[in-house]
Amino acid sequence: MTGSIVLFGPPGAGKGTQASLIAEITGKPPVSTGDMLRSALSEGTELGVEAKAFMEAGKLVPDEVIIGLIRERLKEPDASKGVLFDGFPRTILQAEALEEITEVSAVISIEVPDDEIVERIIGRRMDPVTGEIYHVSFKPAPIEIHDRLVQRKDDTEETVRSRLDGYHKQTKPLGNWYGERGLLITIDGTGSILEVGALVTSAVNTL
Ligand code: ADP
Ligand code: ADP
Repeated sequence: MTGSIVLFGPPGAGKGTQASLIAEITGKPPVSTGDMLRSALSEGTELGVEAKAFMEAGKLVPDEVIIGLIRERLKEPDASKGVLFDGFPRTILQAEALEEITEVSAVISIEVPDDEIVERIIGRRMDPVTGEIYHVSFKPAPIEIHDRLVQRKDDTEETVRSRLDGYHKQTKPLGNWYGERGLLITIDGTGSILEVGALVTSAVNTL
């Protein structure tokens, strides 16, 4: 399969957690717009400066900024046989722009209800050295690295509410949009990380 795969779902659904598994199975490099924006922010580039206020408020960064970022990323040689998008597209406008740039072969939607999302996001921690995503209760990090774990600035209860609101208004309709195109595969994301991983694996193996 030469097209790209989209990992779709609300913030905190477990997209990043499952992305490495899918990348391993398919050989497609993960492309996370959230990670790209956070790198830009910490490097203080023009893009980072532009995106900062939106990210900290839990609002979507403007479509044209994101589309430009993806357009450049897809020019890299490792993207020639498709990539694994995580957190992109998030609006119908982004999806329409993506259609002009590359082929999407499947959209895997990880479904988790809002009340579980809040707990997942508030307990999320990241290891800045390896990029590994942990959770204080659901995926505890080894004790040796506790001191270096970081919590994202936007992973607060207040910001989560705003992100979920944006998800329901701006992103969720995109699931139906992909459904109408026969590309949507829906996965129950409420089980454990391993259980969701098993569902994701069998979905990817049918592609
Ligand atoms: P999560 O997976 O927890 O929702 P991400 O790391 O994907 O978070 O995104 C963090 C923030 O970066 C978002 O709240 C938003 O401000 C911005 N962002 C990431 N991807 C996009 C996108 N495709 N369109 C607009 N904004 C985005
Ligand atoms: P996303 O990329 O969709 O924003 P993450 O993969 O970062 O989501 O996961 C959000 C948080 O929830 C992380 O702390 C992660 O360890 C945890 N998590 C992921 N999948 C599950 C799961 N199936 N059950 C419980 N916690 C999970």
